[in-house]
Amino acid sequence: MHSKSSRYIAYAGYWLRDHRKVILGIQWFIVLFYAALIIIPCFYPVPDNDARILNNLTVFAQFCFWGIWWPFVLLSMIFLGRFWCGVMCPEGALTEWASNNGLGRPIPKWMRWGGWPFTAFALTTIYGQLVSVYQYPWAVLLVLGGSTVAAIIVGFLYAKNKRAWCNYLCPVNGVFALLAKLAPVYYKVDKVAWDENRQYEKANLIKVAQVNCAPLQPLRSMQGSSGCHMCGRCSGHHNAIDLSFRSPMDEVVRLGASEATFWQMALILYGLLGIAIGAFHWTMSPLFIQYKLTLAEFFINHEIWWILDNNAPWFVLTHYPENNDVFSWLDGLCILTYILATAAVMGTALLACLTAATAIAGHVSRQRIYHLAQAFIPIAGAGVFLGLSATTLSLIKHEGISTWWANDVRLLLLVVSSCTVAWLGFRILQLWTSGWRLMVSFCAVLAALAVVNSAWGLMFWWW
Ligand code: SF4
Repeated sequence: MHSKSSRYIAYAGYWLRDHRKVILGIQWFIVLFYAALIIIPCFYPVPDNDARILNNLTVFAQFCFWGIWWPFVLLSMIFLGRFWCGVMCPEGALTEWASNNGLGRPIPKWMRWGGWPFTAFALTTIYGQLVSVYQYPWAVLLVLGGSTVAAIIVGFLYAKNKRAWCNYLCPVNGVFALLAKLAPVYYKVDKVAWDENRQYEKANLIKVAQVNCAPLQPLRSMQGSSGCHMCGRCSGHHNAIDLSFRSPMDEVVRLGASEATFWQMALILYGLLGIAIGAFHWTMSPLFIQYKLTLAEFFINHEIWWILDNNAPWFVLTHYPENNDVFSWLDGLCILTYILATAAVMGTALLACLTAATAIAGHVSRQRIYHLAQAFIPIAGAGVFLGLSATTLSLIKHEGISTWWANDVRLLLLVVSSCTVAWLGFRILQLWTSGWRLMVSFCAVLAALAVVNSAWGLMFWWW
């Protein structure tokens, strides 16, 4: 017996399945909008200080991409899973279109390497900082446009009618896959119903239409929503798959025990809570200034002058003399090493806390540490949202709109996400232990939470 709400949500899945043309229309509309926003600003001069969202196309595009698009796409993952990927993402639409018309070669082994989500995220984040992707249209065209061209090439070369790019190489695939674990909706598979239907199909009593799952999900054995793009194409397949509600904790607490991986842990601890924090920190960190002065002194004392030159082209390091915004080789070196050092310090401190928690809770095993790291997905997602929305807020402020409420909202978001992490961590530890061990190991999780929150405290309140 299905409740009314579960029937309605299943209908939403059927609607998506039955309205492919509407979805394709939405996708192509977004493709055009996206192309306009990344290409047209390149033909205009770099905006000066008087440029505003409503009178300058470049600032408007900047606000759309970094102020609204990215932060709210991230947020949507937590509520709707990867609906953005399956229904709205321009890169996903283009790679699938290229794949439909492409060579359909088998997906090569190098592409299946599990470290791509971490590596692609790290490289794009660091490179984005070096070329100031949040500010300059040519940098946007290079980073976002480059990624789109790569998506089309990969789609054209590999796998027929699929989204191999999204599944393996997209720089935000790993982040989206992590955040989608918290979504309260997913495509639930009833294996018993599936097998029963298969029997009827084998006996030629029914005909079942084939389903093309573009992001290559194993439909019958699919349990979570990490890799599913929520496109709805498999809704009702074999009378066994329906869009359904679930507890937002379920995938992390229950499935994480077997499905959490090393690379997911690396992305959470060293990527989202390390590299991303370093990338948001360096522009306002007094430590960064101190570090740069020390390095400059060192190079001057050793008469290494070339490092102070600022002759790198714009696609290597930020180079906009007309805006007095030019990075020297020393700036590049400092930014790169500061971000990597932040990642090393944050990731290792968090890993130490989680290892301690696991040891106190019984015995240390890799799988247990990977599992416990997944409890930190909420604050990792909240952090990236907060960091990106700093751009939104500075643009809004530039428009003369008051942002006195921003720090209160930030605090609220950090408190809510920290409570969620604490609850997830507690539930995971409960699977392994109880009594005093549970309480002491939980303290180690709280220590890790304190490390993360102090990084945001420095950025928003104390620096
Ligand atoms: S499992 Fe595949 S076909 Fe089904 S909704 Fe997810 S992405 Fe679409």
